Amino acid sequence: MSQPPHTFAGNPLDRAANTRREPEELERLVAAPTSRFLPLWNLRALVTADDTPRLSWQPLSDLDAFAGENPDLIFLGLSNGEPRFAAGTKGEDDPSVNGCMSGRGRFEEARPLASDIPGGEAAVLAQARSLIDWHDRHGFCAVCGAPTALGEAGYMRACQNEACKAQHFPRTDPVVIMLVARGDRCLLGRNKRFPTRKRYSALAGFVEPGESMEEAVRREVFEEAGIVVGRVSYHSSQPWPFPSSLMIGCIAEAESEEIRIDPNELQDALWLTRDELGSCFESPDYHSADGQLEIPSPDAIAHHLIKSWVASG
Ligand SMILES: [Zn+2]
Repeated sequence: MSQPPHTFAGNPLDRAANTRREPEELERLVAAPTSRFLPLWNLRALVTADDTPRLSWQPLSDLDAFAGENPDLIFLGLSNGEPRFAAGTKGEDDPSVNGCMSGRGRFEEARPLASDIPGGEAAVLAQARSLIDWHDRHGFCAVCGAPTALGEAGYMRACQNEACKAQHFPRTDPVVIMLVARGDRCLLGRNKRFPTRKRYSALAGFVEPGESMEEAVRREVFEEAGIVVGRVSYHSSQPWPFPSSLMIGCIAEAESEEIRIDPNELQDALWLTRDELGSCFESPDYHSADGQLEIPSPDAIAHHLIKSWVASG
């Protein structure tokens, strides 16, 4: 099965990970005339001020003006041999308004932006956003509390306490998201955090320590909806940079039908047929024919899990 075109997947950069531990090679990349960095202000990316925006890459000569002296500079990879970095700053004043980035574009939130820029750029944005957010929240060592400093071109932070020297690495949090099916019906739930009361989606939850993907699927479905799951098969996965998840899409075969929702997790759950769901894909805003149900848009893996199951009948 080929991977659907998931938003935030398909990063075109060569991550050139072997250069991260080579200081001289990194210096050469930073100094290269083709080097550029992507500025993120409060985790919003700079994009060109066009109707069809693109990521707005900037010369490294402007790095200090944007991010201050000795900023955390993260190596994203090579774009046709040209080095690409990311750097972040925080604050109330938008640097694109009368600041060092004025005239260079505007800062945009990643989620709405992802659908407006080319797919490969959304993937680069996911990489940059997750890493910058991780650095922002790991300035101190979790072992001894001393300050940490960026290492390995942004893929590590090292404790600066000589007696500790612990190394910390960026996390990716696995989340299982599963389309639970039984015969011609599948199970969708309405999470209390969903934007509208019509929105239903595949169930999802974090994988816990010491748990396999299949075990996480079975536990989450039973906890949230009281449904017993048997066979679990992998479908596809999606990076989700809010802040740093990997959505692992699965199809789960239900062995029971009676729904018992956990009200702390779900407001409602329903068994729906292929016919009921099929009409959602014909509607521009992904509503069912009777208007009573709305499924997630194509930037979410849940959309593709539901679509794939509907098409498999
Ligand atoms: Zn430490």
